[in-house]
Amino acid sequence: MVAKKEVDLIIQNANDLLTIAGGSQKPLLGAQMRELGIIKNGGLAVDNGRIVAVGKTENISRKFRGRESLDATGKVVMPGFVDPHTHLVFAGSREDEFEMKLQGVSYMEILRGGGGILKTVRETRKACRAELVESCKKKLKVMLEHGTTTVEAKSGYGLSMEDEIKCLEVMKILNEKQPVEVVSTFLGAHAIPPEYEDNVDGYVALVEEMIPTIANRKLAEFCDVFCEKGVFDIEQSRKVLLSGKKHGLKPKLHADELTNLGGAELAAEIGAVSAEHLLFSSDKGMRMLVERGVVAVLLPGAAFSLMVGRYAEARKMIEFNVPVALGTDFNPSCWIENLQTIIALACYQMRMTPAEAIVATTINAAHAINRAKEVGSLEVGKKADVLVLDVPNHKFLGYRYGVNLIDKVLKNGKPVVEFLNA
Ligand code: FE
Repeated sequence: MVAKKEVDLIIQNANDLLTIAGGSQKPLLGAQMRELGIIKNGGLAVDNGRIVAVGKTENISRKFRGRESLDATGKVVMPGFVDPHTHLVFAGSREDEFEMKLQGVSYMEILRGGGGILKTVRETRKACRAELVESCKKKLKVMLEHGTTTVEAKSGYGLSMEDEIKCLEVMKILNEKQPVEVVSTFLGAHAIPPEYEDNVDGYVALVEEMIPTIANRKLAEFCDVFCEKGVFDIEQSRKVLLSGKKHGLKPKLHADELTNLGGAELAAEIGAVSAEHLLFSSDKGMRMLVERGVVAVLLPGAAFSLMVGRYAEARKMIEFNVPVALGTDFNPSCWIENLQTIIALACYQMRMTPAEAIVATTINAAHAINRAKEVGSLEVGKKADVLVLDVPNHKFLGYRYGVNLIDKVLKNGKPVVEFLNA
């Protein structure tokens, strides 16, 4: 008999183990999004924070002995969620505007009145690094408790050299202080600060000035722009993203959220990694995303909280083979840390199936932030970011909503969340 190999941890007896394998090189498209690579009675072997084997429990336990073991009888085991779009770093809150929104005041009206993003900018500028780190830690803890193990975070509430850098530094500190991996995006072009109200081009020039400093100090991997009527137009967005690209910041774009400006087309033209929102994108824009392999990050939580009565056309995009991912858009006007709720919204409002929504919040979301070789699926060599859900199969995601289905969360093979579910 061959001696068993000793590893740090084995997970065994999962009712359904979702590997979501096969998408590490390229995002899963179309019908591929409905196949989760399910292993019945599945198991995993984990060593040094990485997955060393995936398969049937009997095969795993024949070959490996775990210094620790975790029994997942009756439960789902799957990769940790990846949230590819958040505005994590901000101070304060905007619950007063929530009531205005309910009375029918529009997002753009609130913004023009000095509220919205501008209110958060005032509060974020006043906050020091330590205060921002503390408040972000709390938010990340809630995300982790709901299964998010990797998160993209955008700056964009500083809107000055000093305050944008402060927010990006906060993200760096967060990576040392808590388990969720934070991937940084520079979104200096998020709104027009009051001091540049009548000089948008002047502010665009300032954003272009910030880019080399941020890139040299390795404070961000991506550069994003809020391309929208009344914010940054196509020409200004192209300018910022090309400057970013020149300095090694990969482009992303807030595109076609409130109007059809041709944001999807721009994202494709400049070879962006992802285009986000896309509520008003044209068929032509969607087909261009397919051609250039741009990931469409859909944010139904934003559409829900903006109450625009419309969602991105997820079914059409999946049919066109657009790589589709889902994110929270966590921010002060869309305060949601929980990707399980986003999955429910994606199912009920955009008619995605639970399987499609799971792919969109794991491997395809990992592609949207260039992490698909490390996370987003349970495959040998990848980080052991693993969720145990207290449900018998994956179809409960979306179906059973409004509660947390998480039983355990592992980050790099270490338990970081454990609820005492029976
Ligand atoms: Fe956003």
